[in-house]
Amino acid sequence: MIHEFSKSLVDKEVIFEKDDHGDKAYIVDSGRVEIYLTDGETETPISVLGVGEIFGEMALVDGSPRSASARALGECQLTSVSKDQLSERIEQADPIVRLLVNMLIKRIRENNDKLTKSIPGNESLDVKKESKEELEVIKKIKFEKELEVALEEKQFTMHYQPIIDLSTKQIAGFEALIRWNSPIHGLVRPDIFMGLAEETSLIVPISNWVFEESCRTFKHYQVNFPFLELFMSINISGKQFSDPLFLEKIQTVIKNLSLKPSDIKLEVTETLLVEGEFVKNQIDALRDLGFMVSLDDFGTGYSSLSYLSDFSFDNLKIDKSFIDKMNTDKNTAVIIEAIINMSKGLEVPVIAEGIESPEDARKLHDLGCKYGQGYYFSKPIDKHAIIKLLQDNPKFRI
Ligand code: C2E
Ligand code: CA
Ligand code: CA
Repeated sequence: MIHEFSKSLVDKEVIFEKDDHGDKAYIVDSGRVEIYLTDGETETPISVLGVGEIFGEMALVDGSPRSASARALGECQLTSVSKDQLSERIEQADPIVRLLVNMLIKRIRENNDKLTKSIPGNESLDVKKESKEELEVIKKIKFEKELEVALEEKQFTMHYQPIIDLSTKQIAGFEALIRWNSPIHGLVRPDIFMGLAEETSLIVPISNWVFEESCRTFKHYQVNFPFLELFMSINISGKQFSDPLFLEKIQTVIKNLSLKPSDIKLEVTETLLVEGEFVKNQIDALRDLGFMVSLDDFGTGYSSLSYLSDFSFDNLKIDKSFIDKMNTDKNTAVIIEAIINMSKGLEVPVIAEGIESPEDARKLHDLGCKYGQGYYFSKPIDKHAIIKLLQDNPKFRI
């Protein structure tokens, strides 16, 4: 599938000319591109670029007109990179890095100017090799562009993983987990792309979509299974949380769907709590509105215990890494028991993640853990598969 940001060119086709105003940079996907200077009569080649190289980025960085011209050398294919995509990163960069980049660009421009003034012979040029780091950055920029397209073309989809009440042994709720159905890479897990999305402002529209889609699905379950009392857990990202419109947005969504805020558990991780006062106020405001807030990945951060005393939560999720070692490591077993006991005192019910056997489920239940989630009960599955599961409403054996 060819996306609109991917472009095919014929031999000698001009991509841009010196002094043009530039609003795009390009990555060479196949073939070669020549960067050259011309004074109308004589032409001076500056470089020949090959697959994986980026060009046209200088005008995007410093806003000046193009300092050289570019054209296809034979047939070639390019990915274009928008100004927004780069400028966002540059604005966020360390001021010293920004200064260095601007100085380098200035130097390159001065060199190009000198070259135009004294046009030499037409030496043959080697295709320049990019360093490994440059290749990584280019890969990242391309991937980011793909994510933007994924959002536009509705390639994201939600899966839902049942959360079981370990006393009744039946489904109590779900965790909504995003998947990317990419035409190029297939079904991509969130660990691969959510980190990258989080580095850019793309995370906000993606997360807004996650919230709306999960709530819509949840409403559907409520309407179809009115006798089951269920909840929906939704992961919240850091940037989304600091969006000043966050509270307003999620309230509008649940109001439009006539959901109760208490139907929704917002999962926040310890990394998000590092930010202090603002986050604390935001969590309190959410809980005042009636939303449930769960502390996710408990025990993996630096100061898990201090978070419990500084913030108020409705649930605590023990990280899968603890459950994995529950049977093989005595210390881990002791820590899990201590967390569950502590949560009883705090009146914050525990959800254990990553349960892969009935024995683990039973043990956790006996320790007083309220909820369990894991492949033993069900992997994350799509919304239609959840409907089938709810029709059976199974009682799990633990
Ligand atoms: P998480 O919030 O800790 O989600 C639980 C992860 O553990 C999920 O991985 C789930 O599939 C996996 N898991 C659950 N039970 C088991 C088990 O028994 N065995 C094994 N091996 N794995 C189990 P997933 O779906 O790949 O998500 C990875 C992470 O990506 C999530 O970790 C969460 O941090 C992030 N994420 C996923 N969806 C979203 C989203 O919609 N928004 C945000 N902001 N982050 C998301
Ligand atoms: Ca989670
Ligand atoms: Ca987790």
